[in-house]
Amino acid sequence: MAKRCRYCFSALKEGNIVCGVCKIDSAKDRNTLTREEKTVSYFCRTLHLMAFLAALGGILGLVGSLAAIFRPIPGVPKPIYFIFVAINLVLAILFIVFGISLARYKKWCHTGGIVLYSLAIGMNLMQMNLIGVLFGALFLYYISLPVTRKILYGEL
Ligand SMILES: [Zn+2]
Repeated sequence: MAKRCRYCFSALKEGNIVCGVCKIDSAKDRNTLTREEKTVSYFCRTLHLMAFLAALGGILGLVGSLAAIFRPIPGVPKPIYFIFVAINLVLAILFIVFGISLARYKKWCHTGGIVLYSLAIGMNLMQMNLIGVLFGALFLYYISLPVTRKILYGEL
């Protein structure tokens, strides 16, 4: 198995000591990192956690949407209900793809994340799921930060 950078968990290329994503020397001790390197490391770890949660949320959403197809809510007109479930289903699949890509620090995750989290906030608002809205807003904040953009665009 390829060695992983201990500051951002991305795979290190054979023979490379300096990580291609966070640009931190992986042989360097945590205590000797510069302030900027510490910030980058913190955001990389946060993005990694977000990637895991996005994929997990996507899987749960997928299971939930599939279950919902077979158990429509009484009183809600069927066409509207199914459109709603279909949107949730697509969003769940996109979040799984997004999670996998974000764990690999793919460039599109910056803009893609802004779009996806905005959509997720909208869907949670419609369902009056305030915890979902809160988390969505927090993730949207992190993914839209300039430092996140720099990390994902490889512009550190
Ligand atoms: Zn790294």
